[in-house]
Amino acid sequence: MVNAARASYGVRHTTFDERDRRLLRYLWVHGHTSPFYHPKLQFEVSAPLMVARQWWKHVVDSAHTMETPAWNELSRRYTVAEPTFYIPAEWRRASATNKQASAEPLDPAASSRWADRLRAHVEAGLALYREALADGIAAEQARAFLPANIQYTTWYWTASLYAVLHFLRLRQHADAQVEIQAYARAIAGIVADAFPETWAVVREHPEPGR
Ligand SMILES: Cc1cc2nc3c(=O)[nH]c(=O)nc-3n(C[C@H](O)[C@H](O)[C@H](O)COP(=O)(O)OP(=O)(O)OC[C@H]3O[C@@H](n4cnc5c(N)ncnc54)[C@H](O)[C@@H]3O)c2cc1C
Repeated sequence: MVNAARASYGVRHTTFDERDRRLLRYLWVHGHTSPFYHPKLQFEVSAPLMVARQWWKHVVDSAHTMETPAWNELSRRYTVAEPTFYIPAEWRRASATNKQASAEPLDPAASSRWADRLRAHVEAGLALYREALADGIAAEQARAFLPANIQYTTWYWTASLYAVLHFLRLRQHADAQVEIQAYARAIAGIVADAFPETWAVVREHPEPGR
């Protein structure tokens, strides 16, 4: 990033020193964001479809825009491998103040009852799915019997460091669905390891230019 920022001077550093650290901070804090678009990160993500749908909305400088449709995902038209499902261990009450949000968890016994009900629902769907396949129905239609929101899918997400940091800003926030917050925390850990200098600045100044 700092070499990109210094391109106008034709200067390139081969080791990262204190001046680079100061420049990196300056760039982010003053909203000079273009250098942060150069590093690209690629993730292989496995998550429930409801999380994948939310993830897919992060289009700017992710490699899955209309121009570069590079979101590559498992297809249940092609595979009939045993699907897997997300069964929440803890169930949450609807928020009284925010229509889209959840609030406190149910007590463990109630959570366990709802998890059992969901498991039974999945089993019923799976039984119909297998029956349809056995009857010669195409996988692309048989999958209609699989509960969609909680079904795991796997895809590749490629995005610039800037786009990933924007994703983290929105999806680590308490307003985001709890499930995607967990993924965002995992991504944050990877970013912190790969870009420790940037991460140190971003932790202090989550938004560029502030
Ligand atoms: C809590 C929460 C609830 C949500 N609920 C819904 C929902 O109910 N329904 C739904 O459809 N989506 C919903 N979303 C998704 C949301 O609308 C965004 O699509 C998603 O968060 C990606 O954010 P973004 O557009 O800022 O990101 P990016 O696509 O990465 O865009 C980054 C930034 O680029 C700028 N930008 C983007 N496009 C343009 C453009 N064409 N011209 C100029 N500048 C541009 C904007 O400043 C934007 O913030 C929700 C997101 C969150 C976090």
